[in-house]
Amino acid sequence: MSALDELKRDRRGLMVVLSSPSGAGKTTLTRKLLADNPDMAMSVSATTRPPRPGEEEGKDYFFVNKSRFAELEAAGEFLEHAKVFDNYYATPRGPVEEALSRGQDVVFDIDWQGAQQLTQAAADDIVKIFILPPNMRELEQRLRTRAQDSDSVIAKRMSKSEAEISHWAEYDYVIVNEEVSTALEELKMIVGSERMRRRRQMWLGGFVKSLVNGG
Ligand code: 5GP
Repeated sequence: MSALDELKRDRRGLMVVLSSPSGAGKTTLTRKLLADNPDMAMSVSATTRPPRPGEEEGKDYFFVNKSRFAELEAAGEFLEHAKVFDNYYATPRGPVEEALSRGQDVVFDIDWQGAQQLTQAAADDIVKIFILPPNMRELEQRLRTRAQDSDSVIAKRMSKSEAEISHWAEYDYVIVNEEVSTALEELKMIVGSERMRRRRQMWLGGFVKSLVNGG
């Protein structure tokens, strides 16, 4: 690692918030972004929703019951929390604060309510990205292909999709996910550019000082 690379490590971690209606492909995009950026951390939420087949405790979610959720909330353990559909979801505070203090970027898969709360808590560190499906037909198809929810749950999720989409203009960036590979490139461009923002590159002040002093 060059001396310049060493200096560049002194930067603020970025909080990358991804929201979308269910079935817009956000989970796939998030997984791919993390696979390409092993230095990024994923915020694992707590939820009162039962696990879906294949979901792992501590990896997809921390699955807790309602009373445990209420306890953690009362103890101030959550950075934000919200009721989505009939379940509660929240972002545990500890792991996020640890990752950010290590200078790691953290990715959040949360809804518009969580995005609003995080903005109030840490506006300077957040980049909010909204993922849209190319059309509503595709959205329903993706929900059905996933085939893990019953028809009534899918119908409910479809009816909630419009409500989630209505918050699109509260986001810094919007990606229409027609082709996953294109959407992923767009996502990587956004993260790359946001990392370059002057105020996130703490090392620049010292570097410029040494530049003008003939260093
Ligand atoms: P799912 O049950 O399909 O995993 O997630 C349902 C919705 O809850 C998604 O829109 C997801 O982004 C949102 N969600 C997941 N975790 C959190 C969280 O910690 N906080 C908030 N506010 N929303 C979350």
